[in-house]
Amino acid sequence: MSANDRIETRVIHAGVGPRIDGALVTPIFQSATYEMQSQADYHDIRYLRLNNTPSHLALHRKLAALEVGEAALVTGSGMAAISAALLTVLGAGGHLIAQSCLYGGTMDILTREFAGLGLSYTLIDATDPSQWRDALRPNTRAIYVESLTNPTLEIADFEAVVAFAREQKLVSLIDSTFASPVNFRPIEHGFDLVLHSCTKYLNGHSDITAGAVIGSADLVEDVRKKLNLLGGTLDPHACFLLERGMKTLALRVKQQNESALAVARLLEGHPAVAQVHYPGLQSHPGHGRASRLFDGYGGMIAFELHGGRAAAERCIARLRLPVHAVSLGGVESLITMPSLSVHGGLTAEERATAGINDGLLRLSIGIEAKEDLLMDFQQALA
Ligand code: PLP
Repeated sequence: MSANDRIETRVIHAGVGPRIDGALVTPIFQSATYEMQSQADYHDIRYLRLNNTPSHLALHRKLAALEVGEAALVTGSGMAAISAALLTVLGAGGHLIAQSCLYGGTMDILTREFAGLGLSYTLIDATDPSQWRDALRPNTRAIYVESLTNPTLEIADFEAVVAFAREQKLVSLIDSTFASPVNFRPIEHGFDLVLHSCTKYLNGHSDITAGAVIGSADLVEDVRKKLNLLGGTLDPHACFLLERGMKTLALRVKQQNESALAVARLLEGHPAVAQVHYPGLQSHPGHGRASRLFDGYGGMIAFELHGGRAAAERCIARLRLPVHAVSLGGVESLITMPSLSVHGGLTAEERATAGINDGLLRLSIGIEAKEDLLMDFQQALA
């Protein structure tokens, strides 16, 4: 591997360790424990929960190479990565500044779990730096955003987030699940920690849950020690599937970028459609920033039909290809109504603040033929 290799090459060759008996592929190391060597402390003992088996180490190297970080940690789910990272950087009694429109599970941690843990948070409009200073408290330790928010695809002012974090000595965290390292690499822009639900694009086949934390060696090691105790490791078979899935990440995401842009344009020009959120469209408020900082606009689209929820339900029923299911980033196109699924745990008021109307549809474009997807949407909306 050379540091100049492109991401298409890195997804294949980065992180490959010494080949075991010549095997091209990292085998499944289905072993909970390993013979003792010269371990310096508890976290160096080779044991499955401690995230240091050969399966984990191969993934750590590949994930770090893709996000251009010093180190990486793979976890049992995206939520394990998010919760372990937040608990690590906030410490006892910490305060978090967070983007107001976040993935529902992350928002639930803030709104339902933080107080009981002695932690606090303030939500900000992450596109408008003018108000962030008002959110600061003496115990503020971190600022948290998403690369594209779930589901309205808001794009934070990333450069201002990094500058603000440096000035105020905060740890900057970004959940970059929606962008994937093919489209955006936040560490290149100064973020401290990048988080992923690898359940989505990185694995890409909707057959495991997994997560990742990528950043400086020191910060990632702190998160690993926390996770080792919380117990959120990834099992060896899922490690194998994730490593296999990641090899086609670049191919998949490029196809998804292309098809999503075409579907978003079709939707925007269709009389049955009231609004489309897609950063590749000129009408999207984040279009300029996405064009400047991203290598692709991604495979996620959110849209609303005239006729609200009833029209949205009819559309889901008439679509032939997108499956009505939660999650995203896989090879099959998926469609959901966030108010009834991933954001169903929020109150109506919280959903309104996050811009999630009842009839909003969220679409994750898969790798079916672009032409077939376009025809399917045309017939479903006719
Ligand atoms: N972050 C984002 C942006 C997500 O969309 C999700 C899940 O949908 C998660 C995190 C949580 O990931 P997981 O389900 O792997 O725990």
